Amino acid sequence: MTILPDFRYVRPASIDDAVTALAAPGVLPVAGATDLLPNLRRGLKEPEALVDLTAIPGLDAVEETADGWRIGAGLSLAALASHPSLRIHVPVLAEAATAVAGPTHRAAGTVGGNLCQDTRCVYYNQSEWWRSGNGYCLKYQGDRCHVAPKSSRCFATYRGDLAPALMVLDAKAELAGPGGRRTIPLAELFHDDGAAHLTLAPGELLLAVIVPRNDRLVAGYAKLRVRESIDFPLVGVAAAVERDGPRLVGLRVAVTGAGSAPLAISMDGLESWDDAAAKMLADRLNKTAKLQNTTTIGMKYRRRVLQAAARRLVDGLWEQGTTR
Ligand code: FAD
Ligand code: SF4
Repeated sequence: MTILPDFRYVRPASIDDAVTALAAPGVLPVAGATDLLPNLRRGLKEPEALVDLTAIPGLDAVEETADGWRIGAGLSLAALASHPSLRIHVPVLAEAATAVAGPTHRAAGTVGGNLCQDTRCVYYNQSEWWRSGNGYCLKYQGDRCHVAPKSSRCFATYRGDLAPALMVLDAKAELAGPGGRRTIPLAELFHDDGAAHLTLAPGELLLAVIVPRNDRLVAGYAKLRVRESIDFPLVGVAAAVERDGPRLVGLRVAVTGAGSAPLAISMDGLESWDDAAAKMLADRLNKTAKLQNTTTIGMKYRRRVLQAAARRLVDGLWEQGTTR
């Protein structure tokens, strides 16, 4: 770790002031700083200024209506995990939030920071000294990818835990920027490019996620990691099942750790959950998940555990569906 680079620091007290401050080049937002600070200390970014979002009133609020919840981007992961109504109606969010890092990270880390966290790679999340010794890489300061040397793009991997859980709930992202406010499906916040994985326009900010109410869904999240205490997912899979007796009304699956963006796996056309449906899920995961050697744990192993975890997760949710 190196000392922090020089940057200006501003702490606006309104969304409009934050958007104005973010419109200048080289300016980054910061919330809990649990992702950004280590990256700054590794010399991975040199912002001209940081815009601290923590003084904006209401950015950490949860609003509940008959249609669902609006969860402010500034809500801490600890507060998300312990929110009484969310715990009852969408427990998959607490499950995914509690799987992030350790208690101190979750006390500071926010929903917005979790969703917008940088992509990761074993050649990138290293000290300046280590990276310079290896000639840097395409994602930052270099001109070659060490994972796929013939590629002109970066395959650094998205490893956020919350995104897949929100995606299977069909969540939307509410954004504010110099062009005004807009709401998009959460999946559209992401772009499959390890060096530019967010579709936010310059100066744009994530304000909230909107989660629709659907008490017929049972959803869960399974995370595979090397250390059970504190670790990013090697792969993570979320699923939501809607069941009517023997009939599968709907199945949504989303994965993290398997590409530069969290991926929704299309599972239309199934009528029940059985071995044939499980085989279809395994085939679709195989085709959609773009695993690369961006961690020290091999691709083949991660591919196999992803398939096994997805099968086990949906088996369990299918059984739970009968008891509702
Ligand atoms: P910040 O660090 O403040 O910001 C992260 C990024 O998001 C920055 O690029 C920032 O500019 C941007 N940003 C923040 N808020 C907004 C916004 N509202 N709109 C637009 N952009 C925004 N994460 C996991 O998902 N799973 C893990 O298991 C995990 N393990 C970790 C272990 C360690 C040891 C550490 C240090 C981190 C780990 N993290 C993990 C990453 C991080 O702690 C969490 O993702 C956390 O939720 C990030 O939130 P934050 O508020 O601290 O983000
Ligand atoms: Fe660098 Fe390639 Fe890793 Fe991207 S995938 S961070 S370009 S080594």
